[in-house]
Amino acid sequence: MSDRSLPRPLLNRGLAGLGTTIFAEMSALAARTGAINLGQGFPDTDGPEEIREAAVRALRAGHGNQYPPGPGVPELRNAVAEHQHRFHGLTFDPDTEVLITTGATEAIAATMLALLEPGDEVIAFEPFYDSYAACIAMAGAVRVPLTLHAPAFRPDLDALRDAVTPRTRLLLLNSPHNPTGMVLTPAELATIAELAVERDLLVVTDEVYEHVVFEGEHIPLISLPGMRDRVVSISSAGKTFSFTGWKVGWVTAAAPLVTAVRTAKQYLTFVSGGPLQYAVAEALRLPDSYFTGFREDLRAKRDLLSAGLTAAGFEVHQPAGTYFITTDVAPLGEKDAITFCRALPERCGVVAVPNSVFYDHPTAGRTQVRFAFCKRVDVLAEAARRLRGL
Ligand code: PMP
Ligand code: GLN
Repeated sequence: MSDRSLPRPLLNRGLAGLGTTIFAEMSALAARTGAINLGQGFPDTDGPEEIREAAVRALRAGHGNQYPPGPGVPELRNAVAEHQHRFHGLTFDPDTEVLITTGATEAIAATMLALLEPGDEVIAFEPFYDSYAACIAMAGAVRVPLTLHAPAFRPDLDALRDAVTPRTRLLLLNSPHNPTGMVLTPAELATIAELAVERDLLVVTDEVYEHVVFEGEHIPLISLPGMRDRVVSISSAGKTFSFTGWKVGWVTAAAPLVTAVRTAKQYLTFVSGGPLQYAVAEALRLPDSYFTGFREDLRAKRDLLSAGLTAAGFEVHQPAGTYFITTDVAPLGEKDAITFCRALPERCGVVAVPNSVFYDHPTAGRTQVRFAFCKRVDVLAEAARRLRGL
């Protein structure tokens, strides 16, 4: 029997300790101090003007100003299916195998709530994107972290095999990986696919950086043998089109999985905002030159910032994908990433994010700090100049 005399905390147990996200904390710190914000991952320039105009046109034409259909507007579902075919050779039925969500964040939440029962185990590689821990907790499930170790952050696939138990329900994968920039190789994907079949696991793949790969290529796990019916693939327009505030994401998967996720989504947001869906449909149909230009622009920025960080004395782990660079601050004599990041704006006018908060293991990543390079060249150059003064 519970002891009624003890005050019960307001926040449910699963969310205890999750507090304010590190991204919100660090962006608030940047706003307060006027420092250059290389913390939270958002571009400082908006995406293509014609896509912004498409959003204005949709609003004016009254497209989506009233509740759009639950699975998303057909124009966007068709465009998502076309995009999956054009870039990855995958075929999805836009009516039954595509679901539009409020960003990848809602897709992840709805997927966890739909597929997990209390006590189910979810294996994910740490450091993990912050919403994973929260969503697994909200579903009452248990996260099982497997550490990616510097400098290469390659997954230990033997450890992965050993981590699977009879309670393991799903693997939650993110490639290209935020924050480390690791991109899973074809061989790693093949091993993961074999394991998923052998142990009858579902796999959720967070692919929001699918178009930000500098080394190798992005291969959706769902394209591998045996994966079409057990993978929920998640992506979003935020990163690819530099409109992170629009919060348009999507799920592509076999119909029974999409139906399950849609069931949860219906009671989270019912439907996602309408007019921007029409604009994202146009964005997904931009010519190849847009996607190549976007990636090459980011490659140059990656190289600029990583040279600056190296010159400033950081150990730099060059990312193969994403627009983040993970560094180690130990060579600067630092012992704790959180302390370092909280003091950095005062010390030199730059904001970064401590990777240590993305680990369950308390000592892993203790001196790792992430810098975002989705910023203007002059901003990155100025940040590098300031960091050199450390
Ligand atoms: N997953 C990862 C790995 C991310 O970095 C982000 C941030 N864009 C998201 C999910 C959330 O994406 P969205 O903004 O579309 O909700
Ligand atoms: N995905 C972004 C990042 O990793 C932030 C998104 C957020 O603030 N939740 O920085």
